[in-house]
Amino acid sequence: MPILRVALDLPLHRLFDYVSDEAGHGDVGLRVRVPFGRGERIGIIREVREDSDWPAEQLKPAIAILRDLPPLPEDFFRLCDFASTYYQAPIGEVILQALPVGLKRLAAPERRAGRRTAAVATVPAPELTGEQAAAIAAVSLGAGFAVHLLYGVTGSGKTEVYLRLIEKALAAGGQALVLVPEINLTPQLETRVRGRFPGAGVVALHSELAEAARERHWRAALEGEAQIVLGTRLAVFTPMPRLALMVVDEEHDASFKQQDGMRYSARDLAVFRARDLEIPVVLGSATPSLESWANAKSGRYQLLTLQERANAQATLPAVRLLDTRRMVLQEGISEPVLAAVAQRLERGEQSLVFLNRRGYAPVLACPACGWISHCRRCAANLVLHLADRRLRCHHCGFEVRVPKSCPTCGNQDIHPFGRGTQRLESWLQEHFPEARIVRVDRDSVKSRKQWEAMLERIHGGEADILVGTQMLAKGHDFPKLTLVGVLGADAALFAADWRAPERLFAQLMQVAGRAGRAELKGEVLVQTQYPDHPLYGALVAHDYPSYAATLLEEREQAGFPPYAYQAMLRAEAPDMADAIAFLTSARALPVAQEHSEIALYDPVPMHLSRLANLERGQLLAESPSRRALQTFLPQWRKAIEGIKAPAKLRWHLEVDPLEF
Ligand SMILES: [Zn+2]
Ligand SMILES: [Zn+2]
Repeated sequence: MPILRVALDLPLHRLFDYVSDEAGHGDVGLRVRVPFGRGERIGIIREVREDSDWPAEQLKPAIAILRDLPPLPEDFFRLCDFASTYYQAPIGEVILQALPVGLKRLAAPERRAGRRTAAVATVPAPELTGEQAAAIAAVSLGAGFAVHLLYGVTGSGKTEVYLRLIEKALAAGGQALVLVPEINLTPQLETRVRGRFPGAGVVALHSELAEAARERHWRAALEGEAQIVLGTRLAVFTPMPRLALMVVDEEHDASFKQQDGMRYSARDLAVFRARDLEIPVVLGSATPSLESWANAKSGRYQLLTLQERANAQATLPAVRLLDTRRMVLQEGISEPVLAAVAQRLERGEQSLVFLNRRGYAPVLACPACGWISHCRRCAANLVLHLADRRLRCHHCGFEVRVPKSCPTCGNQDIHPFGRGTQRLESWLQEHFPEARIVRVDRDSVKSRKQWEAMLERIHGGEADILVGTQMLAKGHDFPKLTLVGVLGADAALFAADWRAPERLFAQLMQVAGRAGRAELKGEVLVQTQYPDHPLYGALVAHDYPSYAATLLEEREQAGFPPYAYQAMLRAEAPDMADAIAFLTSARALPVAQEHSEIALYDPVPMHLSRLANLERGQLLAESPSRRALQTFLPQWRKAIEGIKAPAKLRWHLEVDPLEF
């Protein structure tokens, strides 16, 4: 009788065998209902074969093969196999996480017909700039695998390049997959794409879609009905039978990296998928990740540059540094910023005051006894949220009411220290009583719907001053916004995480790019105590390439990525001693000693050493050779699985970690 090898959603690095008399080789990639333990599960048939490694009498019969969907294609499995091997993730988990929830349920959900999307009028394509035309011509569809890094300043019209390439892919009968950061996938983008390709059955795939819609969209992609899929991170796994082009917009964005479960990079998987399918992939950014930039410089990726803004009248904003060492600040804001905001108010233009710290103040403290508002579950402070009078931990979500007096000494005169967006907003409101101020951060915008509504208000001119965090920095055009004031950026210059300057630069370039995108000239004022720092110099000059060169040189000297390959073993337990002891055992394993090209660092507590009552430690494995690291990791992982650890200890391996 045929044997089915089935992938199940279990944290085990293997497949499971069942017998089935109704199975044929064409059933690979179908869902199957199987008995497991005392219950049943839905799995995916990965292989149909004649024999099993297990004795025949131990194999249970499968209950039913589900034939309501076309089988998952072989290239989907190649992608999952690669992800499982590369990220050391159990194969069943990888395969099943890619499926919509409804398709993994035992009880088949009732199928409701999807709402028909309203017909959209075709929007004509704008005229191309010379640079755009050259970039489009450089990407050939149907000519095999290539990675193109589309480096384009904000406003240079990267999206138009994507749209023209999609047009080519569709004309040749192919499908296109466009990945964007979580926050950028708004209905506006979807509408724009639909407007250009009204008959293409555009679908979106993201985490906030209702279950039924996600399943419907995913099916449309698998069945080849949807020619264009717009999605966030997880959509990189969407099975598409005629995939001909992939685009990763804002390729440097950290949201392409999954931070729990299987810790994968959707951008890197997109590159693998393109190579596997022999198709082009376009990575776009105004501030590419240093990894991609180094690949472009070495010629592994093809560099396409857009330096002019698509709207010829829109020039790059003038960036000016304000040396706050010589200035009197009011509530953290300098006189030149206030004057510039006042001027915009007078002219009926918009200003953005950027402060990447939400809440009212980062900490509440007692000057009498030195008490400060610590989170009792984390190695972090509780942030003061004055609007609802709560102290809240931004790491674990713990919250309490703001105390009326110091919990330690009873002093009633406790103070907020430092400032966040709420404090800035209320002070600006006092200072400019006539101004309409809109605060945009994760407290004021909690869902995609609220985000939409907020964008609409700003576009509709219902705001004079925007106060916001990095949420506002990403890819939105506000035609009346002509001033950006940046506060509190210095903190990230000297952060413990060596990637912090790269992220800060990308963020500031993005936020600066918000100013003056249409006919109105933009101005960016950056408050700093370190005006001579090379990061700010490059920002003033709008010179990403020179700053990237500086950073790459530093990385090469220090032997950091992209000049080394890393994996992080992390352990968490109620006691730090247990976590460190576990990591120390992992470091001492014989296999860890046998690989001479692998450096294993000392186990150390993580930067946020305690999160939600768990102490966290980490151990870095590093090698100058990706291949050596990839050979080492599966052997190491297997050996680590054999370490006897306390019951409450959890561990995971993260390959190419982004945060330290
Ligand atoms: Zn006190
Ligand atoms: Zn906490």
